Amino acid sequence: MILIDGFKVSNEIKDELKIKIDQLISKGKKVPGLVTILVGDNPASKSYVNSKIKACAKIGMLSKIEELDSTTSEKALLELIDKYNNDPEYHGILVQLPLPDHIDENKVIEEISPQKDVDGFHPINVGNLVIGKETFYPCTPYGIVELLKRYNIDTKGKHVIVVGRSNIVGKPTANMMLQKKEGANSVVTICHSAANDLKQFTLQADILIAAIGRANFVTADMVKDGVVVIDVGINRIEDSSTEKGYRLVGDVKFDEVKEKASYITPVPKGVGPMTIAMLLKNTYEAYLRNEN
Ligand code: NAP
Repeated sequence: MILIDGFKVSNEIKDELKIKIDQLISKGKKVPGLVTILVGDNPASKSYVNSKIKACAKIGMLSKIEELDSTTSEKALLELIDKYNNDPEYHGILVQLPLPDHIDENKVIEEISPQKDVDGFHPINVGNLVIGKETFYPCTPYGIVELLKRYNIDTKGKHVIVVGRSNIVGKPTANMMLQKKEGANSVVTICHSAANDLKQFTLQADILIAAIGRANFVTADMVKDGVVVIDVGINRIEDSSTEKGYRLVGDVKFDEVKEKASYITPVPKGVGPMTIAMLLKNTYEAYLRNEN
């Protein structure tokens, strides 16, 4: 079994980007810029945003946080997005989700210029992904596909089973694996909570991508020998032996599934760190598209 080390790969991607940004700096050029907009004081969102800002700083990317009060109106948020749509210093705009209930998430996503939509959630980018045109891939699915590529895992004609159909993970991952492109070109099945007998599907997976949000849900009896397992889940379970009183586990029962897998991602340090690395890659890509 080969452990897919997302932490290592994410650092490689960041190092590659840092080299490119250092070259821009040495030529006296503008650097890529990312603005993150945070509404309210959800501690998890704050922590995600801080990690993104730190990651930008590490590779020399310009970054800024716009922290808004939880009572901020939808109109004020849309106006702020519009300001950054027109600000040439910032090539990527990210609005941290979830938003307070009084703000329409879809309206906010649609306000971001598709050219600066580094989260890849704008309907134009979603549509471009589906039809195989230039787009911004959502960061977590992009990270999954990149891990498969960097571990030289053959995907062509393989049966990929994606469990989960969310707009941020399941659906875009399935659409990316379906594309007639290198690193994809798979036969794809998407499963969800209405599947009658999930196991009959998961047992067919050459590559199983679990994005369910249920701790240790996929067990060894649900997979075949030699399966490649990508565990997207991040679930907290109580653990009094740790300082925090909890630990993170994936959607896959790692200890038993690893015995049957040919490749498997751990949680943490699997898909998780890739998400930020791909956000930085998207921001660099947005820079190239906007500056050239
Ligand atoms: P989500 O929106 O809650 O979607 C979960 C999906 O799993 C839904 O499509 C749901 O089906 C399906 N599901 C739930 N129970 C099921 C069951 N018993 N059998 C089959 N399918 C079932 O979650 P998400 O945002 O996609 O996230 C999934 C997990 O990935 C979470 O643990 C999240 O924390 C993690 N995540 C990690 C990263 C990262 O950076 N690594 C990024 C995003 C998310 P229905 O559609 O029928 O409800």
